[in-house]
Amino acid sequence: MFNLLTRSRDALVADFAGLTRDRKYGEGHVEAGRFIVIDTGGITGEEQGIDAAMAEQSALAIAEANIVFFVVDAKAGLTSADELIAKLVRTQGKKTHLIINKIDGMNPDVAAADFYRLGFEHVHFTVASHNRGVRSLAEDVIREAIEEDQSDSESEDAGIKIGIVGRPNVGKSTLVNRLLGEERVVVYDHPGTTRDSIYIPYERMGKRFTLIDTAGIRRRKNVKEAVEKFSIIKTLQAIDDAHVVVLVLDARENIVEQDLHLLGFALDAGKSIVIAVNKWDGMNPESRSEVKAELTRRLHFVPFVNQHLISALHGTGVGNLYKSIEEAYDCSMAKWSTNMLTRILEDAVLEHQPPMVRGHRIKLRYAHQGGSNPPIVVVHGNQTTALPDSYKRYLENTFRKVLKVKGSPIRFEFKTGE
Ligand code: GDP
Repeated sequence: MFNLLTRSRDALVADFAGLTRDRKYGEGHVEAGRFIVIDTGGITGEEQGIDAAMAEQSALAIAEANIVFFVVDAKAGLTSADELIAKLVRTQGKKTHLIINKIDGMNPDVAAADFYRLGFEHVHFTVASHNRGVRSLAEDVIREAIEEDQSDSESEDAGIKIGIVGRPNVGKSTLVNRLLGEERVVVYDHPGTTRDSIYIPYERMGKRFTLIDTAGIRRRKNVKEAVEKFSIIKTLQAIDDAHVVVLVLDARENIVEQDLHLLGFALDAGKSIVIAVNKWDGMNPESRSEVKAELTRRLHFVPFVNQHLISALHGTGVGNLYKSIEEAYDCSMAKWSTNMLTRILEDAVLEHQPPMVRGHRIKLRYAHQGGSNPPIVVVHGNQTTALPDSYKRYLENTFRKVLKVKGSPIRFEFKTGE
């Protein structure tokens, strides 16, 4: 079911420093939008009950989720483990869908009879191994959730929303405190936690910002939460909700898969990005040049993203982050005229012709803007579907250079016909 929902075998986030070994995260798409799937896989359904650690993993996954898919096995029938899980789910008060799986060759009414005893209102039937019922279920459930979410998250003027994200211990809390501790910052009273992250609105030099603090939970005194203060869902939600993502890296550690996963997720979500390489204080010149080389090597695919070498602890370089944040935000919101985009396209084509396809040259005629945040450039022409990726990259680089787009992704759409 996880694979069907995410259409991938790879988990989005495989293992964050051992914190999430027993939970797998993947990204899914339906027509209505994007969603994240957490696979707990930990509960075996053995009659003798649930192993405590596995139950805890599931409880944590449920706590992070907006919606719970509680999957039961029609062939096995109702087990005592199911009843335990049902209780666990109910204590968390999340919207739950009971999914009766493996109903192939069975009469659904008969298959369901037992399970109705669990008392769940939303019941669905699937055969995950044959991809029956899963996609349509996701379409319906996710559409409803997204519609509800949009109707209650109308935030008025929050200014530039800055998501502070990164692996555990890279210095996010320290950076948040430092950003807010600046002299020229006026922090408004904020009503607390509308979602899981803490949203902190403030004003700096007459401009409004809202910090999305994913590390905030550490201030609570609960031991269990301290261990789990780092939440992937919170991080991904913060990215989705931000205008500009500040990805915090630790200069004293190598760049790892998870850093790149977060970066990739932010780019896919169309978010502007600024990279803050933290803990730059007290490093000797040799390690500094090693870190710089590593940054160049691992981040070569995002040359348009500004990197700042900072010390959140001492405040060095922190103020300069704002310049890049504001620049990235402005770029993501930029508006360009059709005239200007078409001129850039014409120049690019003159400089470097698109290739021939079956004896005809691909023609690119004009370009207009299809949206902002992130900016979309729509290119019109003939046979554009045959345009090779290398040429698309060439166009992106050219537009990026001429339009001076820093920090923000640019999306391209290619249309064929008049
Ligand atoms: P978080 O888990 O990402 O929120 O990280 P924290 O802000 O809690 O920081 C983790 C540890 O790194 C703490 O011991 C901080 O004092 C330390 N730390 C954070 N920023 C810096 C920095 O710029 N330089 C140094 N040397 N240590 C830092």
